[in-house]
Amino acid sequence: MAVIDFKCAECNHEFFEIVTLSDRDKVKCPKCGSKNIKQVFSGTSYIKGGGSTKSGGGCGGRCGTCGGCH
Ligand SMILES: [Zn+2]
Repeated sequence: MAVIDFKCAECNHEFFEIVTLSDRDKVKCPKCGSKNIKQVFSGTSYIKGGGSTKSGGGCGGRCGTCGGCH
């Protein structure tokens, strides 16, 4: 299983789901219910609250907040 970030193409709501590969096609937007969603790959630089990111650095790519971990 994996935590995958998605972004809804209909309402631009960003969310994440814990899914298996076979469940990935079943994910739909929790806000508007659309299945027109796009997977957001890691490496994008938006902030997720909490410390559950799996990025290489300590700051999720925003070194302005960590003093330069990369
Ligand atoms: Zn939506």
